[in-house]
Amino acid sequence: MTESDSQKLLQNEVKTFEDLENEIIKSNKCCACGACIAYCECQGFNVIEMNGYNPGFKSEKSVDNCTKCGVCYYICPQTKALLKELKDTYYIEDNIGHIVKILAAKTTNAALEKVGQDGGVVSAILTYLFEKHKIDAAIVSEFDDNFEPVPKIIFDKENLFKSAGTRYSISSQIFPLKNLYNISQKILMKKEIFDIDQLRMAFIGTPCQCKAVSKMKFLHVKPAHVIKYIIGLFCFENFIYNQLYDILKRETKVDPTKIKKTWIKKNFFIQTKDNKEFEIDIKTLDPAVRNSCHECDEFTGRFTDISVGASGAPEGYSMILIRTDNGEKVINNMLSKGIIEQFIGPHTIEWKNKKFDWYNKLISLKNKK
Ligand SMILES: Cc1cc2nc3c(=O)[nH]c(=O)nc-3n(C[C@H](O)[C@H](O)[C@H](O)COP(=O)(O)OP(=O)(O)OC[C@H]3O[C@@H](n4cnc5c(N)ncnc54)[C@H](O)[C@@H]3O)c2cc1C
Ligand code: SF4
Ligand code: SF4
Ligand code: SF4
Repeated sequence: MTESDSQKLLQNEVKTFEDLENEIIKSNKCCACGACIAYCECQGFNVIEMNGYNPGFKSEKSVDNCTKCGVCYYICPQTKALLKELKDTYYIEDNIGHIVKILAAKTTNAALEKVGQDGGVVSAILTYLFEKHKIDAAIVSEFDDNFEPVPKIIFDKENLFKSAGTRYSISSQIFPLKNLYNISQKILMKKEIFDIDQLRMAFIGTPCQCKAVSKMKFLHVKPAHVIKYIIGLFCFENFIYNQLYDILKRETKVDPTKIKKTWIKKNFFIQTKDNKEFEIDIKTLDPAVRNSCHECDEFTGRFTDISVGASGAPEGYSMILIRTDNGEKVINNMLSKGIIEQFIGPHTIEWKNKKFDWYNKLISLKNKK
């Protein structure tokens, strides 16, 4: 889509943040991605903010100051706007989406293997992109002392050790981009960047967040113009931090400050810093699932360059679904340089079809929930 086409589309029937509030936020369909705020703030409109994990107008005055440009509505992953166009762009015809290649692999970096959630593939991809100077920054999710996710823009591969692994609660991954134009000169100079619009980033997020970034890129709106690689994580459901840890504390007596790692394998598992393990029936956690996840038809992250997940992968490996030429170049280079190693297995048509059947089964299970 050209820039003038996208302007025409926006002028047809402009829905605004008030429509987002009525249709998405008040009916609990917002997934807290932060796209609406990142766009609004980068344009200098500055009328909306995030309260906890819920966007809203900053004040009564902000309601009047809203320019009613409507972009926030169009880029929201939870509205139907632009979906048809976006599906055409990504050649999406079904629930799994377009796939150029599917494989199971893991990092060959022992330190990353230790901290990675599954095969450490996501962190390995980011390491490669930093080392080859393909990106200057990446948006990842770190976590605080209470194991609460902290979305963050990082500028060095060394920081990847703070984000590896999965925290199963909302991390508003697009939110940090609201500060894109406040990135310090010192950081930019170090990267030899003289115009901030030249920055090149990789984005890591859940499928809904990747959909928002793809909508922004489709419309050519800031701040997504700096995102060059979209890497999605498989996602069956996500949890509201406070509610999740209230239940986990009640069930296990483990304080979040003591948690080293969490994972889901049918049930929810916790490993503490002193290496004790706890298993919690996943159904117990249902009340903590974010409402937006109940109606979500995404699982493998269809609006991405590369999707990564555990489902279908052998123990210690990640499944990689390559979706674009951009993604294919990265994974092929990583394989040829031995940065990731492919699982030695059949990788036949039957093997692939078995994986697709499994993903379709999970998606229909998700839709039934
Ligand atoms: C909420 C959630 C639900 C998931 N559900 C499934 C599932 O049902 N089935 C499945 O196969 N896989 C699921 N995954 C993906 C899986 O947990 C791993 O992230 C994936 O297999 C990549 O592992 P890795 O070792 O390659 O990544 P690593 O190298 O360990 O990197 C993990 C990356 O995840 C990012 N991250 C961590 N927590 C979050 C978060 N809360 N939000 C956004 N980004 C985050 C970090 O920034 C890091 O870059 C889920 C991930 C999340 C965040
Ligand atoms: S100014 Fe535009 S982007 Fe900001 S809230 Fe209003 S309609 Fe949305
Ligand atoms: S753009 Fe994201 S944060 Fe904003 S209303 Fe939509 S889902 Fe919520
Ligand atoms: S289940 Fe869907 S809405 Fe919920 S976090 Fe995952 S991708 Fe987003």
